[in-house]
Amino acid sequence: MTHRTTASRVIYLGGLGRSGTTLLERLLGEIPGVAPLGEVVHLWARGVLAGEPCGCGAPFPACPFWREVGETAFGGWTPTLAERVLTLRHRLDRTRRIPRIGHPDLAEYTGIYQRLYDAAAVTAGASVVVDSGKHASLAFCLAAAGVDVHVVHVVRDPRAVAHSWRKTVERPEDGRPMTRWGPARTAAHWTAQNLALDLLAARGVRVTRLRYEDLLADPAAALATLAGTLGLATALPFLTGTTARLTTAHTASGNPMRFTVGPVQLRRDDSWRSGLSRRHRRLVTALTWPLRLRYGYGKAMA
Ligand SMILES: [Zn+2]
Repeated sequence: MTHRTTASRVIYLGGLGRSGTTLLERLLGEIPGVAPLGEVVHLWARGVLAGEPCGCGAPFPACPFWREVGETAFGGWTPTLAERVLTLRHRLDRTRRIPRIGHPDLAEYTGIYQRLYDAAAVTAGASVVVDSGKHASLAFCLAAAGVDVHVVHVVRDPRAVAHSWRKTVERPEDGRPMTRWGPARTAAHWTAQNLALDLLAARGVRVTRLRYEDLLADPAAALATLAGTLGLATALPFLTGTTARLTTAHTASGNPMRFTVGPVQLRRDDSWRSGLSRRHRRLVTALTWPLRLRYGYGKAMA
């Protein structure tokens, strides 16, 4: 791994799926100098190996942005490289587990990510990239290896998250249904994922927590505050009231919202209040205590 003085800064969005990380990535991606990359952890299997579409609509291998990134970083994308990254990931970057520092493969693994981030920043003409990979483990690997990473930990009311995971959603990539979880399983994942992200801060990683509900209550104020904390421009011309104008983003993988272009209404989705049964609501409420209270999702919000 070669350390460049021009190494790009990385904003890493952490949180359990369906908590608003894709929306936040799209909003941050409209700030000048910021390049949103999607969930880079999934780029290797879904983009390089399976050829799934980029956020611009082109299949990953045909997207001009990613083609240039691959050429610059690695002399081109190859199945050998993707399989190597997947092997390394299996060894030291396990979902929701904080890896050991000093693993002999850590420098090779994080070096690949740093090269990818740097090439993406250069290609996009940006100084900051956003990786919405969500899992705490990759953020910890990057920080442990000295990558300039700032984690934004997005949390959302677990009852809303549980309701979202019960819904049937089709993947735009191939029309297949996305994974569904029952409320108890979502509650367990919600707790594990958020605890792991909380642990990052305790291990010295820069972490800024953002509640999905606060972002949606006043998008301009919440985003400007966050942008200031992250050292980004705080003028947000793409935001008018609760309407955001989104341009095409070359996000390699992530939830269906990554394909959205044009005006988007920023509104809280509170459909869980009528859609989640009393029994499931009680179950999630009980299983996610006390972390839920720490994040301010008390009885008043039930
Ligand atoms: Zn693209």
